[in-house]
Amino acid sequence: MSATVIDGKELAGILRREVAEHVAASAIAPGLATVLVGDDPASGIYVASKRKLSVAAGIRDHHRHLPSDVTHDELERVVDELNADAEVDGILVQLPLPAHLDAAAVIARIHPDKDVDGLTEVSAGRLALNRPGLRPCTPSGVMRLLDWAGVDIKGARAVVVGRSDLVGRPQAQLLLARDATVTVCHRYTTDLAAVTRTADILVVAAGVPRLVGAEHIKPGAAVIDVGIHRTDEGLCGDVDFDAARQVAGYVTPVPGGVGPMTIASLLQNTVTAAELRRSRL
Ligand code: NAD
Repeated sequence: MSATVIDGKELAGILRREVAEHVAASAIAPGLATVLVGDDPASGIYVASKRKLSVAAGIRDHHRHLPSDVTHDELERVVDELNADAEVDGILVQLPLPAHLDAAAVIARIHPDKDVDGLTEVSAGRLALNRPGLRPCTPSGVMRLLDWAGVDIKGARAVVVGRSDLVGRPQAQLLLARDATVTVCHRYTTDLAAVTRTADILVVAAGVPRLVGAEHIKPGAAVIDVGIHRTDEGLCGDVDFDAARQVAGYVTPVPGGVGPMTIASLLQNTVTAAELRRSRL
């Protein structure tokens, strides 16, 4: 059996075009503020890409680049300014921050209605209680990939490997909200393969290169690989793609699977935030 490969690059392109058309057809010109602290090359590349694709979709760019020695108070003042700025609908503080800054406190400072990364406690609470709100971008992208591929979520057995605030936990909540029966695995799970083999939908976000092989996968399952690792042989994910392909029904590649969906979800969240905020004015 050879799995259907879900092309995240293609879907992300479709979604970005939909956002651009929606923005062009509406009177709203959403604004996104990206906050980059320091000169970490990887963070710089991510932020540049988010800005470029946002602008291409008609979203206004309110970027702030702060020096790596910015104080915590100065950074919080910038977040406060952006919270108060009527032109700014979404605020994204690029993580990780330099070690002298308290990332959790900075995230907590973002107004929940501008929290386009969906990482504040209010956003997490809204998600946990299944109330409307802004959802974290990567797990939202995974849900869109599953829907686009035509994978049934309602009633499916879903296993999420990883329980980070960024991916695993919100992923489990999103699947639960769609009526999947959800199990969450983490680094202390014993006999991982025995659990993952029960999954109709397997989402892997462990940060361990090629952790999941053929023996972890139920035949026909939808396997979504969130991991991304740079190795000497190039990029790879948390799933052994070639092995998974022989067993799964659907599988996402790395690169070109979940990665492009994260930015597409960010653009959609920015438009959602703009519309929600203006509807309250
Ligand atoms: P993290 O390190 O914060 O969390 C990893 C989680 O996996 C933890 O909950 C841990 O308990 C669990 N885990 C670790 N080893 C395990 C094992 N052997 N068995 C079972 N569980 C295990 O990582 P994260 O931020 O959630 O990211 C996970 C991966 O996804 C990383 O490779 C990261 O680079 C990638 N990522 C990709 C995107 C994207 O847009 N494609 C976005 C975010 C993260």
